[in-house]
Order: sequence, then C-alpha cells, then structure tokens
Amino acid sequence: HSLEFISRSPEQTRRAGMHLGALLKPGDLICLLGDLGSGKTTLVQGISAGWGSLDAVSSPTFVIVNVYRRSNGFHAGKREQRLFHLDAYRLSGPAEAQALDLDEMLEAGALVVEWADRVQTALPKECLEIAMRYVDDDQRDLVLTARGSRYEWMLREFRRRVYGVG
Ligand code: ADP
Ligand code: MG
Repeated sequence: HSLEFISRSPEQTRRAGMHLGALLKPGDLICLLGDLGSGKTTLVQGISAGWGSLDAVSSPTFVIVNVYRRSNGFHAGKREQRLFHLDAYRLSGPAEAQALDLDEMLEAGALVVEWADRVQTALPKECLEIAMRYVDDDQRDLVLTARGSRYEWMLREFRRRVYGVG
C-alpha cells in the first residue's frame, strides 16, 4: 500500500507526476505533505501535464485554489473537465478549507492539495498521500501511500507505468 523512491531531478519528479495525472478522474484526491521546497508544486506541474491541462501551473502565493482545464474533445453536451489545485499553506485550518466547498470541487473534478496536513479534517479520508522530503539540492524522497481501494489501484497502476511491472 506504500511505495518509496528517490527523485534525482525536478524533471524526474515531474515525470512521476505525469504518470499520476494520467490516472485522475473526477472525485480523486491527492494529498501532498512536505516542507517548503520539498517539490510539491513541481510534482503538481507533472500531474497537471499528465492529466492534459491546457493551463500552466503557478505556485500560488496569493491564490489559494488554481483551476486547470482540459478539453474533452468538444463532444456535444459534455462539460469541460477540471483539475483543482489547493495550496493550504495560507489557510488558518480546516474550517477555512471547508468554506472553499471542497465537496463541490471533488464533484466537478480531481483535487490536489499542498500542505494537506494543515486541513486534514476538511478532506475525505480516502486519498493518495504523497510525503515529500528534501534529501539534497537535486534529490527528494517521495513516499506514496494509498488510503482506500481506489488509491491502491492508482498506486499499482503507477508502479506498473513507472517500473513496467505488476
Ligand atoms: P514546494 O511546492 O514543496 O514548496 P517547489 O516544487 O515549489 O516545492 O520547489 C522545489 C524546488 O526544488 C524547485 O526549485 C525545484 O527545481 C527544486 N528541486 C531540485 N531537485 C528536485 C527534485 N528531485 N524534485 C523536485 N524539485 C526539485
Ligand atoms: Mg508549493
């Protein structure tokens, strides 16, 4: 239910994110833990690219939620799909997160949360948790933990895509 690996460059972190992003569906939740500079936003850049975002990722200093869009091939009657990126760094706690209508976001798209530990009680229990840690200038330690069967599937699929096994 858990997978640890060392990323040796920002590009490698983005590539890992791309594999995850390709797996996301509305309702999915990815919780990112780790200090400033541990690579959370870099991972989100990959996630959003792999998901197929038309929009660039920014590290939101003032913006708390970023919304990325992707085309669905312009099929009649289908709405544009969305990926939500919440940076909880500046939130005072779960109550403030709850006021953002996270449930509504999860109905409309997938949600990736930086500093998820700060707003944990406002988030569903089931998620893919990714704990990131600074090792040295170029290296980051990533521990992916599946919380719930949907995320066990996601982690298996991630492992299969990255390592070509499973
Ligand atoms: P956070 O969102 O956790 O504060 P960022 O992704 O904004 O972190 O910043 C991470 C910084 O560390 C970036 O400047 C990035 O280029 C650098 N970095 C160096 N090595 C890595 C790596 N292996 N993975 C991710 N980022 C890395
Ligand atoms: Mg960040």
